[in-house]
Amino acid sequence: MKRIELHWQILIALILAVLFGIFFKDLTPYVSWMGTIFIRALKMIVVPLVLTSLITGVTNIGESGSLGRIGVKTIVYYLSTSLIAILTGLFFVNIIKPGVGATITLSNATEQLELVKKPISETLIEIIPTNIFSAFTSGDMLSIIFFAILFGFFITRVNDTHRKLLTDFFSAAFEVMMKITLFIIRFAPIGIFGFVAEVVAQQKNILELFQRLGIFMIVVIAGLLIHVFVSLPLILKFVGKINPIKHIKAMVTPLLTAFSTASSNATLPLTMEAVENNSGVSNKISSFTLPLGATINMDGTALYELAVAGFIAQLYGIELTFTEQFIMVLTALLASIGTAAVPMASLVTMTIVFSAIGLPLEAIAIILPVDRILDMFRTATNVWSDSCGAVIIAKSEGEQLKV
Ligand code: ASP
Repeated sequence: MKRIELHWQILIALILAVLFGIFFKDLTPYVSWMGTIFIRALKMIVVPLVLTSLITGVTNIGESGSLGRIGVKTIVYYLSTSLIAILTGLFFVNIIKPGVGATITLSNATEQLELVKKPISETLIEIIPTNIFSAFTSGDMLSIIFFAILFGFFITRVNDTHRKLLTDFFSAAFEVMMKITLFIIRFAPIGIFGFVAEVVAQQKNILELFQRLGIFMIVVIAGLLIHVFVSLPLILKFVGKINPIKHIKAMVTPLLTAFSTASSNATLPLTMEAVENNSGVSNKISSFTLPLGATINMDGTALYELAVAGFIAQLYGIELTFTEQFIMVLTALLASIGTAAVPMASLVTMTIVFSAIGLPLEAIAIILPVDRILDMFRTATNVWSDSCGAVIIAKSEGEQLKV
């Protein structure tokens, strides 16, 4: 019998999981462990994969003397796509006005939230780890990336014997990490089934949610869909001269995984595998752009944070001035950069946007019931944008791609 392709297996698992979560709610504890194991395995591989791949990638780029150029291109791409996403969100919030006239009861769930308000300057300073090993153990991605770039770059600055030894060592280690990743990916359908069934079963009453926060959800989902299916494909086509349809087909498995797990970080191993093997990007580019992208490039999150702030302001009857809207755009951009690539991380950084325009932080509780569902959509958007960045930058560096 012909084996069903992996992304079809995942899609079937996803549909079955939703049905299971709805109709066999009480049985979900018996399947949720499969999801837990899958996510743990992905998390296990993420730090060593990022470290070895980034060191290998930076060493290759460093040797060719193009680190600065690729770095600048990557950052420009990330900032501009996030900004486009934010403006799309702003457009929809202003046109549909989901909060005007809405009757919503406040839930008291904010206590569960850790509302840490950390100034952006502190986040930037903390990129430099005081102890690289504690950064590894706590999975502090920005610090790990910073150290790996530094390490990879200086490998190219030592004498030939050492350089060769270290380059060979890290690229061999990277090959092994990639093999482990491929092994874990084979379990994706089972893992996703367990995970999604649990998430669905946890939703109290999906229909009621849609009724109460329906228009807000429509605003967010519509904005994300426009970004995913219109803005980014146009950039792919006209800036990158890349076929968007071929690229999205290449990315189905990581996109479905991002959707199911709501974590760009957990999806990273799959994103790297797909961008390299299906879209044909060299490891040199993918290993630099993707870990960085998963950590700082969050188009979906940026759009969402702006939409929430706009929605809450409307609920409170606050008319935002042009300057306030500008501040909202800017802080949503910064907040999305600072958001960790884990489920529901936006809820924490959203406080940056709220405080900047003077909204009460407790109001975040209003969107809590729908946050997890919208997280699935925004995480898939985040991962899609990262992958588009990788192919565009690879193409601009003259690589022959498969898309
Ligand atoms: N879950 C998102 C991600 O991992 C972050 C967020 O918006 O909460 O990309």
